[in-house]
Amino acid sequence: MRRPLEDGMDSISRAAGTVAFPACFILVAAMNPCPCGYYGCSNRQCRCSVRQIENYRKRISGPLLDRIDIHVDVPLVNFRELTSDVISGESSAVIRERVAAAREIQVARLKMAKLTTNAAMGAKQVRDHCKLDAEGKGYLEHAMQEMNFSARAHDRILKVARTLADLAGKPDITGNEVLEAIQFRTLDRQLFE
Ligand SMILES: [Zn+2]
Repeated sequence: MRRPLEDGMDSISRAAGTVAFPACFILVAAMNPCPCGYYGCSNRQCRCSVRQIENYRKRISGPLLDRIDIHVDVPLVNFRELTSDVISGESSAVIRERVAAAREIQVARLKMAKLTTNAAMGAKQVRDHCKLDAEGKGYLEHAMQEMNFSARAHDRILKVARTLADLAGKPDITGNEVLEAIQFRTLDRQLFE
């Protein structure tokens, strides 16, 4: 799983030779926060012990977690919201337009490197296109120290911050995007500090 996620390809070696297969895909995965499923839930009590939760979460290896760009908590939807006729928030059509515009920005920016998305950026492109101002640098440095992020997670944060700036139509990454990108690494954090 790691190699295809990293390189967009995988190879299988047998006695007769090695065959490389393209493996360009978006990995979307879901898990419960704990064995009972209610950790962090506002209206139900989680009955798991710290050790049970830690063991449960360790089933995803650190190296695999490192290669997932965005971690998002999805809280339980309450009955009233589920049955409400009023749809709150933006429609998918509006969001689609914003995503399409951000993708166009990325295609233009990464044309020279023959890449099309921020996610595909290598170390050089990250250095060139994810420059931070003093505020952003400060936030990232603090987060790296406090939360013990890996070097790989560091680059993921920069790429996600670049994408957030593109979605907002901003030419430069500001502290806000860095903070938001750090929020998307919830599973890297210690459970109980
Ligand atoms: Zn639980």
